[in-house]
Order: sequence, then C-alpha cells, then structure tokens
Amino acid sequence: MIDVILKKGKEKAVLHRHPWVFSGAIEQVKGKAANGDIVRLMDAKGSFMAYGFYNDQSRVALRLLEWDETVEVNERWFREKVGVAVASRSNILTDGTTNTCRLIFSESDYLPGLIVDKYADHLAVQVLTSGIEKVLPVIIDELQLLLKPESIFDKSDASSRGHEGLETQNTVLAGNHPPDRVEVKENGISYNINIAEGQKSGFYCDQRDNRKIVASYAKGKKVLDCFSYTGGFTLNCLQNGAASVTAVDSSVLAIDTLKENIILNKFDTNKVTTIASDVNKQLRKFREDGDLFDIVILDPPKYAPSRSALDKASRAYKDLNRHGMLLLNSGGLLATFSCSGAMNMETFKQVLAWAALDAGKQVQFIHQFCQPEDHPVRASFPEGEYLKGLLCRVI
Ligand code: SAH
Repeated sequence: MIDVILKKGKEKAVLHRHPWVFSGAIEQVKGKAANGDIVRLMDAKGSFMAYGFYNDQSRVALRLLEWDETVEVNERWFREKVGVAVASRSNILTDGTTNTCRLIFSESDYLPGLIVDKYADHLAVQVLTSGIEKVLPVIIDELQLLLKPESIFDKSDASSRGHEGLETQNTVLAGNHPPDRVEVKENGISYNINIAEGQKSGFYCDQRDNRKIVASYAKGKKVLDCFSYTGGFTLNCLQNGAASVTAVDSSVLAIDTLKENIILNKFDTNKVTTIASDVNKQLRKFREDGDLFDIVILDPPKYAPSRSALDKASRAYKDLNRHGMLLLNSGGLLATFSCSGAMNMETFKQVLAWAALDAGKQVQFIHQFCQPEDHPVRASFPEGEYLKGLLCRVI
C-alpha cells in the first residue's frame, strides 16, 4: 500500500474525522498510486492517520475511509458499510406506506462517492469517485444479496464525475433494464418514476417528510406549488384535502408525469392546474393577473453550487421569495426551500427577512425544515447538510 504524507499543520481535520484531504494539504506521495487506490495517510512524523481513496485528478485528493490502523479496508469492510446503511433505512420502509428512499448517502454513510436510491424493487446507483468505481462489483454483489432487486441501474451522470476523471454512465449494472415507468409509494401516495430518464435518479425523496408537513396545512386551501417536478408537494396537498393546486415547472416531462400521477392516485383532476413554464416568469404573471394563494411552495434547484456563488444566489433566492410573498393572501403560508449546501439556515433566514422587507410584508418563521433520516448528516462532515427550508406565516 502506498503512503501519502500530510503536510505539517494540516492534521486537525483528519484527527476530527473529516473525510476529505485536499491536494494542497499533501506533502508527498511515496510511490505511484493509481486513482481509486486505497492508500495510507501518514502525518509528517510518519505516524498512521487514516486509510483513504486516492485521486490526483480531484481537488479532494484523499477521501478517508478508516481511522483504525488495525482494520483492513477490504471487501468485507465495504460489504459491512453497505449492510449498515441499508439496515438503517428500515424505519422508513416498514409501515408499508413508503417503498422509495435513499439507501446510501455517500460520505454521510461512510462510503464517499456512492449514492444508492431504492425505487420499489429497483435500485439506482450513482458512482462519483474513482475509489467507489473500483469496488463497485463488490457493492453491487452485496446489494443483490441483501435486497434481491429486479434491476440495478447506473445513473452516474452527475457533473461531479468529471472532477474525478470519470465518464458519464447510464447503464444496467444487474438484472434487466428498469421499465420506463416504475410505480413507487411515498407517504401512501403513488408515483411513476422513470429511472433512466428522470432528473437526478428519478425522484426527490429528500422532501418526503417536508411534503407531509406542508400538506398538513393544506386542507381547504388554494395552493401554488412552484418547481413542482412530478408533483411531490402537489399530491401530498391533494391527499390532505387542498381545495386546489397550481403546479409550475419548466420541464414538460415533469409536468406530464405529474398529470399521470394525479390520475394514478385517482385525485380530482379539476382541482389541479399545471403550467409548464419558467417560475420567475409565471410568478410575475400571477401578480399581473391579481391571482392570490393561501400556500405558496418554492422548491427551486440549487442556486449556489459553491460558496463563491453564494452572493449571487442569495439575490436570486431573495427575488424568488419576494415574488412568492406577494402572491399570498394575508396570513398565508410560504414554504420555501434551499438545497444549496453553501446556504446555511442562518443566511437563509436573513434572505427571507430581506425579501419580506422588500415585499412590504411581515414574516414569522413557524417551522424549520431539514433533510430526512435517509440523508443523514455525519457529525464530522457538515458538508453533507444541504437541504433546509422555512415555513413562514406572511401578513
Ligand atoms: N418540488 C419537487 C422537486 C423540485 S426539483 C418535488 O417535490 O419533487 C427542482 C425543479 O425545478 C425541477 O423539476 C426543474 O425542472 C425545475 N426548474 C428548474 N428551473 C426552473 C425554472 N426556472 N422554472 C421552473 N422550473 C424550474
């Protein structure tokens, strides 16, 4: 095994069990390690610190796996990590109302660069590091042993693969090609998922709990679901007796699937208006037309891909939320989210305060949303926390 020597003074994060070592913190690589190899990280004095995946093409040159020198990071190690992660999702899956969730969430589940989502009896995998790519056969084998899925599909089309020198994948890893439509259940509501063609791995299961919370306010209300995708919030609100829901998304495929999902659940199609359009444009149009709502949901894509983009993103979030607030009846609710890791809750609250001021509205935060248990936040890896939201009462 190749030894990698850490620069003096860079020990702290490693000792605190942060799983990333940036290339700038590396003093020397003793020998020739191939990308994806497991190497030994040593401090400047030559003492063992951790084992990790090596990649000289990535800004994160080492992704640490194990801090105990006596534990060998072998096939059994990976099988155990997969097993622990899968077993920890049982709380979500046991009551029968939900059969889709994230089974493995990368660093947060001690497997840097591996994401596995379950869609009923099908699995979608994203491989984002060369280290995981190398041990993928073992991981696939373990998933098959544990879950006996009908298919395992590689959805590794994330742009971050480029940073690791990996090419985009979109292939069957085990079993048959998943069907065009896989029917899954979440919170007792059915959804058609297109694993191969849908966004990300097909469904945003990170909003499961938040959909339920927002829907609990929707009975008899007029709801506007912005960035609806295939209807996560829309369907939960209908299930809970919303008087009407207007869903807006720029993706025609998402809106078409949303319409299918309304029928799949036998909800009243007369209660739903779908608009395939840019949200920013549509919000202005509602305002011109004098349309008002009781609940406005804003679940935009990631506006801040990095910390350096935060200022610009904050302005975009502010503008979006200002428009959302202006479309509410007095006392109405704004359920607003940010999935940008760079935007923390404190900054998000400031953005909302700023939007309220500009809109001439008063805002109370009545609930704080976060990511669900199948997207755990590892104490030593705060970067794994990305989804946050606020339920605001607006007058
Ligand atoms: N709320 C959804 C997930 C939203 S993901 C759910 O519960 O499943 C973000 C969505 O925003 C995607 O569906 C994407 O198509 C859509 N989108 C991105 N930019 C947009 C824009 N400018 N206007 C409208 N929709 C947009």
